[in-house]
Amino acid sequence: MSFATEGRGGVGPVPGIGGAHTDTAAHDEVRAEDAAERAGAGQAAVGGGHPAISPCALVPHRLIHPLVPQVRLVSTSRFGKAAVSSRRSRVEAGAQAGEDTSVFYPRLLGSIGVRPHRTSSAAAYDGRMTRDQYTFDDPRTRYPVISPEVQQQPEPGLQSKMTPVPDLGEDTYRGTGRLTGRKALITGADSGIGAAVAIAYAREGADVALSYLPEEEDDARHVVELIEAAGRTAVALPGDLTSASFCRWLVEEAVAGLGGLDAIVNVAGKQVWQDGIENITDEQFDLTFKTNVYAPFWIVKAALPHLGPGSTIINTASLEAYQPAPDRLDYATTKGAINNFSKGLAQQLISKGIRVNVVAPGPTWSVLQVTLGVDPETLPEFGSSESPIGRAAQPAEQAPAYVFLASAESSFVAGETLNVNGGMVTP
Ligand code: NAD
Ligand code: MG
Repeated sequence: MSFATEGRGGVGPVPGIGGAHTDTAAHDEVRAEDAAERAGAGQAAVGGGHPAISPCALVPHRLIHPLVPQVRLVSTSRFGKAAVSSRRSRVEAGAQAGEDTSVFYPRLLGSIGVRPHRTSSAAAYDGRMTRDQYTFDDPRTRYPVISPEVQQQPEPGLQSKMTPVPDLGEDTYRGTGRLTGRKALITGADSGIGAAVAIAYAREGADVALSYLPEEEDDARHVVELIEAAGRTAVALPGDLTSASFCRWLVEEAVAGLGGLDAIVNVAGKQVWQDGIENITDEQFDLTFKTNVYAPFWIVKAALPHLGPGSTIINTASLEAYQPAPDRLDYATTKGAINNFSKGLAQQLISKGIRVNVVAPGPTWSVLQVTLGVDPETLPEFGSSESPIGRAAQPAEQAPAYVFLASAESSFVAGETLNVNGGMVTP
C-alpha cells in the first residue's frame, strides 16, 4: 500500500497559535475560518453545513459509506508501516542521543521532523515500564502542573500540534489482561481521553474499532500504531457522528471488522465556549446535541442487537453535568442529558445482562480545550485554578476508569457515574 503524507487539507496554522492573537477579534477570526472551512466542505456533507465526511487523502479508501456518494471513508487496520518505522527509528535515535523522550517534547520532535506525539519505547510495547498506573506517588505531582500557552486551532484540531502534547499513557499504561478478547468500539479515539482509553484497552487485550473525524487522521495513526504494537487489531472508521446513518454504518463496520462487539465506549464530544446564550447559534446548539447526545443514542440502538450478556456500555459525561460553567451552556446541558440517559438505560439493559455506566471527567488537558472549548485567555490556568488537586488531569489518568467499567471487575456496577475530577465534589 502506498500512503500520501502531505497535502491534506483541513486543520492548519491559525491566528492565535503561539499566543500572538488572543483577543476577541482573533477569537472571531478563528470561528470565521472554521465556518468558511465547513462551508467549503459542505458539498461532501451530510445534514447541511457540518462536514459529515470529508475526503481523506492519507489512507487507502476501501469502503464507502453507502449513503454518502462521492465521499470516501476508510476501514483499515493497517497504516503505512514504512512511515511508522521511520518515525520510530528517529525517536529512538533521539533517545540514544540522550534526549529525554518520556516528557513533553513537541518542539524537539518538530525540530527533527517527527510528528510531536508522545511515542518512545512504548511504540514497541512489551509491558515493561519503570513507572505505570500502579506506581504509588503524590497525586498532586504525579503529572506536571501545566500552564499552557495561549493557542488555538479550528475544530476538531490535532492533538499533535498542541503545546504541551497531552499524555495518553504511551509510556506508562501497563496492561494486565483485564479485557482479554473483548471487542470495543470507541468514539473520539484519535485523541485525548478516547485515545488514552483505546491504548489502554488494547494493552489489556481488547481489539478496538476507532471512530474519529477524517481531519484527525494524523492523530488516529498514532493510536492505531500503539494498538498494533500491543498485538491487537485496530479498525479505523473515520466519519461524522452527527449523521444518524453514519452512526449505524459505524456499528456495522465495527462488528464486521472486529468479528463482534461487546463494549461500546462513547467518548466523542463537542464543546465550544460562548459568553452568553445570545451567542450560541442554533447550529452550534444542534451540533453539540447531535455529537454528544444523539450519536450515543444512535450508536447504542444500532449496537444492541449485537451485544450479549456481559457486554458493557460506557458513556462520557463531565463535571459540567453537576457544575455547569456559564460559558458552556449547551455543552453542560448535553452532559447532564448523557448522565440521565445512561442511568435510565442502565435500568433497561441490566435485564439483558448489559451494564451501562458513565465516566465524568474533570478538567483534562486535551485538544478540545484549544479548539475554542474554553476561553483562550484562561488556558494558562487550565485545571490548576479549578481542581482541588491543583492541576489538570492528563488523558492517561482517565483511562483506568473506563477499563474498570468495561472489565468483569465491575460486574455489580450498573447505572453509576465514576467521577474522575481531582476532588471536585459532586452530588
Ligand atoms: P478530544 O478533542 O481529544 O476528543 C473529542 C473527540 O470527539 C475528537 O477527537 C473527535 O474525534 C470526536 N468528535 C467530535 N465531534 C465529532 C463528530 N462530529 N464526529 C465524530 N467524532 C467527533 O477531547 P477530550 O477532552 O479527550 O474529549 C473526550 C470526551 O471527554 C468528550 O466527550 C468531552 O466532553 C469529555 N470531557 C472532557 C473533559 C476535558 O477537560 N478534556 C472534561 C469532561 C469531559
Ligand atoms: Mg481528536
